Amino acid sequence: AFFATADLHPAMKENIALARYTEPTPVQANSISIVTAGRDLMACAQTGSGKTAAFLIPTCSRIFGDAANLISRPQGYDTHRFKAKPLVLIIAPTRELCSQIFDEARRFCYRSMLRPCAIYGGAGTAGQLRELEKGCDILVASPGRLKDFLERGKIDLSNLKYLVLDEADRMLDMGFELDIRDIVERRGMNKSRQTLMYSATFPKEIRALARDFLKPDYLFLK
Ligand code: AMP
Repeated sequence: AFFATADLHPAMKENIALARYTEPTPVQANSISIVTAGRDLMACAQTGSGKTAAFLIPTCSRIFGDAANLISRPQGYDTHRFKAKPLVLIIAPTRELCSQIFDEARRFCYRSMLRPCAIYGGAGTAGQLRELEKGCDILVASPGRLKDFLERGKIDLSNLKYLVLDEADRMLDMGFELDIRDIVERRGMNKSRQTLMYSATFPKEIRALARDFLKPDYLFLK
């Protein structure tokens, strides 16, 4: 009964039960303990390992009931000046992966005030901006579209509590290293956030990203 005794919000435990997850996968058990302990993480995780829930469950659980973005939105706000201020940011390589993560985020945010949004290339920006303007506590994003929205001043990462890089090796294979560095090392990115990286392989470029993005005492789980 790992989930029942884990340090998770009671409403998140109900969402886990609704999803019919009875036992955690290894990457889930590890990620939940490490996020709870406040440490950064680099984890080996293949597709099918349950890595999506591994980062969504503990990060969303810890901001359950926060919904900072909705509460802080001024009354009668000006759309042109609106900035999304997510608490959790998940960067993933493709539009398909972003929408899978978004669907799972909706499932785990049920019974909370949190609002997930997804932005990715290959789709128009107008609809995605309208969704952000309704409030965005959890943002799932592909690197190119995220960089574009940051440059247009639509997203503010100063409130960010959790940064997740999913399928980091695939993002590098697809040529996103400079975009990712630009996003993570950008002025205004909250430096006291917690960072989690998931990758199937660990070439030296991935180890270099971990060294640059994670706190020096980060945990490396193979
Ligand atoms: P992922 O590796 O995140 O793509 O997840 C693979 C599949 O396993 C998804 O369909 C999840 O809904 C499912 N899944 C993840 N964690 C669990 C769990 N603890 N118990 C049962 N199914 C799970």
